Amino acid sequence: MSARILVVDDIPANVRLLEAKLAAEYFEVVSAASGKEALELIEKQIPDIVLLDVMMPEMDGFEVCTRIRANPKTHFLPVVMVTALSDPSDRVRGLEAGADDFLTKPVNDLALFARVRSLVRLKMIMDEWRMREQTSGQFDLLGSNEPEVNEDRNASVLLVESFAPAAQRVVQVLAKDEDSVEVTDSLAKAQELAAGKRFDLIITNIQVGGEDGLRLCSHLRSQEETRQVPILLIVEEFDMPRLIKGLDIGASDYLMKPIDPNELLARARIQVRRRRYQDRLRANYERSLSLALTDSLTGLYNRRYAMRHLDGLMDRVKDSGKALSVLVCDLDRFKNVNDSYGHAAGDEVLKQFAQRATAAMRNFDMVARTGGEEFVCLLPDTDGQSALKVAERLCRRVSETPMKVDGAPNGELSVTVSVGLAATTNVMPGDELLKIADAALYRAKQSGRNQVVADPSALL
Ligand code: GH3
Ligand code: MG
Ligand code: MG
Repeated sequence: MSARILVVDDIPANVRLLEAKLAAEYFEVVSAASGKEALELIEKQIPDIVLLDVMMPEMDGFEVCTRIRANPKTHFLPVVMVTALSDPSDRVRGLEAGADDFLTKPVNDLALFARVRSLVRLKMIMDEWRMREQTSGQFDLLGSNEPEVNEDRNASVLLVESFAPAAQRVVQVLAKDEDSVEVTDSLAKAQELAAGKRFDLIITNIQVGGEDGLRLCSHLRSQEETRQVPILLIVEEFDMPRLIKGLDIGASDYLMKPIDPNELLARARIQVRRRRYQDRLRANYERSLSLALTDSLTGLYNRRYAMRHLDGLMDRVKDSGKALSVLVCDLDRFKNVNDSYGHAAGDEVLKQFAQRATAAMRNFDMVARTGGEEFVCLLPDTDGQSALKVAERLCRRVSETPMKVDGAPNGELSVTVSVGLAATTNVMPGDELLKIADAALYRAKQSGRNQVVADPSALL
């Protein structure tokens, strides 16, 4: 994994040292000698990660970090503070300024590389989601992505710890943020709980009784449901090699014992916030996909989706040789509905027609709204004769039972539909098959509406 790393330190020797270490690991390194220079560089080109010295003249690391977080473009840029300060209160201050981690000088190389790799991995995942969201182009429509107030509180946390007094302390600390914590002392139980429920955060000791906590880590990462859940490792200082392994197999962060309560809270909050942000991105993405492919009035698929689906069905015709039928349905004299009872009444009719058409089909048939009052039904594995029966039944059901519409006399409105039918056992472009059905629809309208006309080729 290659990444561009910005090293910020006012002492040239420190910069050169980090630069040499990182370059040897094939990271690309750029450097800045002051906070101001760092911000200028970031403005020009955003790196994948920033290693930030705390003590610098003019603008210190806390300030630089705060500014990085305040800029929407760099809000999510991973920042690791590197400092000679080792007081827990400084670490917490760094985390509150928005740093993702805090490394103490002299920097342990392996810890540094593991940290960089895991943050770069995380950044790539987040970038991917943000990109998808932008691509789907619904950003404005879906509202803001700014974190909500207190969205890092009230988390549901799973704690895996075999030493009861230690577990108790963690639970007490997290209670300050009104987190609800479930505690277990076995890996098997933890796996079961995590599979059954969506936790915002899983905290595990790296050693759970006689069991290896990293096993839980790798299990959680291998399962679809838990792949994205943040994992916070609790480790002993002497257990550095296993911590590094843990970060490499996907732990999100760690806490060194003895646990400082404020640091625990700060790190838990960061993870929970990130988890919820990621959830929001994904939900928006899924929603935007459905917005792009469905019609909001009726909830049916739109033309774009139907055309793609039709191409897929045509491939099936090629493979199976079975017939594919399409119906093009157009409501009759629909303009009159709008003119007489208003647009809202018209919308109501469209919605009810959509329901009736869907109900008249089998569940693997597709009904799509392809235009104002035009609908297309795609019936795979269906020959023209069978499709004709389906279409006639739909036509009858529409004309026999009036739609319920507020504002119409007696709250009821009689509507009819005309349908054109085409079917094929030969592969042809989807839009060509639709054109044949369209021509049949035109004849249905010409012949007095409220009827189905099949193209002759469909009934051979
Ligand atoms: P025909 O029997 O020949 O199909 O006549 P028609 O009146 O149904 O056809 P025309 O194409 O002249 O009019 C279609 C009308 O559908 C006009 C338009 O205002 C209305 N329409 C299109 N989309 C919507 C919509 O989303 N809601 C409502 N209420 N009306 C719509
Ligand atoms: Mg300094
Ligand atoms: Mg019409």
